[in-house]
This record gives sequence, structure tokens and C-alpha cells, in this order.
Amino acid sequence: MGWLVLFFFSSCAFATFLPPNDLYKQDRILGFDQTTMTEGEFNQVIDRVYSAMEPSVRLHGGVLSVSRLWTDSTVNANSMQFFSQWHVNMYGGLARRPEMNQDGFTLVMCHEMGHHLGGFPFVGNFIGRWAASEGQADYFATQVCARKVWAESKAENAKYRFDVAPKVKEKCDESWKNQDDQNLCYRIARGARALAFLLHTLKKDSDPDFSTPDPLIVTKTNTTYPSVQCRMDTYLNGALCGTQFDLSVIPGRTKLGFENGITGEREAAKYSCFKTAESDLGVRPACWFKQGI
Ligand SMILES: [Zn+2]
Repeated sequence: MGWLVLFFFSSCAFATFLPPNDLYKQDRILGFDQTTMTEGEFNQVIDRVYSAMEPSVRLHGGVLSVSRLWTDSTVNANSMQFFSQWHVNMYGGLARRPEMNQDGFTLVMCHEMGHHLGGFPFVGNFIGRWAASEGQADYFATQVCARKVWAESKAENAKYRFDVAPKVKEKCDESWKNQDDQNLCYRIARGARALAFLLHTLKKDSDPDFSTPDPLIVTKTNTTYPSVQCRMDTYLNGALCGTQFDLSVIPGRTKLGFENGITGEREAAKYSCFKTAESDLGVRPACWFKQGI
């Protein structure tokens, strides 16, 4: 394979939200009344995430484009980069899932933006040399992207205070002292719950629940899809992390590729939560991330 061909494949590799699946067979494209999201709402979610994240893509020399594939039954979302073209595909088949709602769909697009902007740890092979790993894309979705998208929606966020799971309330209140921040944390967790139930439909793992975190401790960072429970834990922990991310930086990314070793980890530690002797609040969960390479 020639260098150019290899480069083409490496740059075009898709970074997706879900493993390949056949849920598209259940999609009833004409049965729009069955669904919880309209095409207008689908577009509105995409517009909001785009507005929040596009300036950062531009800052990194990219041109962000989104394909709004409302009539496509694929139950997924994916991303690619080809030189300065940074692309996201959003499918109606995913938006029409009964488990999905607008907040869950926001987190899906935020996951895709996480592949582009989340940085260390990366997928870690030549094929995915630009893309943050699955766990990192989930973490970025709640630590950075959803917080930015919903930061000013204070009245809407406040509604989530009246219906928050006890474990989520306990954790969010431990991390955030300000009521607006707490409300935002509750809302992010609620969106994450919708996603976890969709993932559960696919994988048939045991029921995901915020009060039963995945006990797995990996000895090496898993750059592919963690378990459903582990992904839910990651979403919650991202929402709990109070360290400020800097969207002018993609931690660990270099001109020609990425740093997936200790240099990358040190970069990431400046902009996200890492375990210390005192606290593990808001860290990337040990069910997929091995801290200290
Ligand atoms: Zn992904």
C-alpha cells in the first residue's frame, strides 16, 4: 500500500458512537409520530452543539461540517478527519430510538466532538491517529461539551433538580457548591442515563445504574468501547470534574500525530481530573483508564 493510500485510510477512519449494530431494522422512517424527537428538534440539537464547538475546531485549523442524515435509519453517529476537513455524520435512526431524547442526542454529538477535540488518550494505532479513544470521547462529552452547550440554560437546567437520582445528587453536590453548577450536573447525568439505556438495548449487559459503578480495574487503558456501566460512570465523572478544560488545546496532540504515553498524560492532567492521594472525584474511571503509564 502506497504512503498516500495509507494516509487516506488513516485519516478517513471513522470514530463512531456505537459498535456496529442492526437496530436500523427496527426504524420506521414513516412512523414519525412514534418517536420522541422531531426533525426540527434533531436539527436544533445539532445547531447548538455546532455553535458551541465550531470555534474550537476553527482554532485548530479545521473546518467543521455535519451531515444531517435524518432519513437514514442507521443507529449510530460517526466522525472523520481528512486534512482540514473535520466531519460528523448524525443519523435520524439514532434520534428516532425510543430510548433517545434531545439531551441524550446532545451527548452523542458531544461524544463525536470529543473524538475530534478530547485528546489524550487517543485510539492509539495508526488508523485512528487523530481520534480520542471511546472513553475519552465520552469523558469530554460531559466534562467539556455538554457543560458549554447548556451553561446558559439555567432555568431549564433547574428543572432537573426536582427529579434527580440520590446517588447523582450526592456526587454532584460534593463536586459543585453553586446551585447552577449542581443543576447542570444533574441534567448531564439525566442525559447520560438515556444513552446508557440505549447502549443497554444493544449489549444486554446488566441494568446500568449510577449507584453500581463498574468494579473492573484495567491494567492497560482500553481505547475501544467500555461496558455500558463503565460508559455511564464516565459520563457522570466527566460532569463531576471541576478542572477547567482549555478548548484552544487538544491535550497530547502534536503536528504529526499524538502523544499516548506519559507526555500525553501530563498534558491531559492540566485540563482534567486525575486521581490524587486525597481524591478521585471526577476522574476517568479505572474500568477503562489506567492512570500512570
Ligand atoms: Zn466513539
